[in-house]
Amino acid sequence: MEKQIGCPRCGSKNVARYLYGYPAYSEDLKKKVDSGKIVFGGCCLSSVDVNGKQVFYMPEYSCNECKKNFGTPPIFYNKKEDRWEDYRDIVTGIRFNIGGYFGGFTEITIKKNKQGATVHVNQPLDLPINPDEFKGLEDKQITAEKWNKIVCKLYDKFYIHEWNKNYADIGVLDGTQWEVQITLKGSRKRTYGGSNAYPPNWSAFERIFKEFAKF
Ligand SMILES: [Zn+2]
Repeated sequence: MEKQIGCPRCGSKNVARYLYGYPAYSEDLKKKVDSGKIVFGGCCLSSVDVNGKQVFYMPEYSCNECKKNFGTPPIFYNKKEDRWEDYRDIVTGIRFNIGGYFGGFTEITIKKNKQGATVHVNQPLDLPINPDEFKGLEDKQITAEKWNKIVCKLYDKFYIHEWNKNYADIGVLDGTQWEVQITLKGSRKRTYGGSNAYPPNWSAFERIFKEFAKF
């Protein structure tokens, strides 16, 4: 999988990779630092225990544009159980919907099951323009490999754990609304949404779902 290196907050591709520890000096390294490709992260790596694995809890990139860090591993501290969890291990469902007041909404729900996951599509009746293309709208089973790929994409490519909760262009009243709801083990949820405003790399993100329905 190609690694997308765009800031999840502002979309800039002008980003620097953190280099941790004490790197050996070289002309090449100096060039990369001078051109903003590399930034020093210091020597002290903090790590946490995630299911018996030590995970470095450090950002991988720094955005030269908005100056924020990103690319931290998709892990979080579960206060109630006093332990760290990795989102990728505990996602049980993904629901994406997009549309507008006039055109209606398309909703794609992907739910993990024993064989992989099922994909359920809900669309307004007056969409699709060509009904023949949508004969297969009954639930579709995807493989475990495919499911894992989708989950990893969300976190490793789009850094969804670093998205804002809400993207809104307050100047526009109708238009397009969207929401992504991730269900985690134990009925926990993470919801991200927007109105006429989107996280960076949106069209690439939409492609995950356009595979299952036209919208
Ligand atoms: Zn940025």
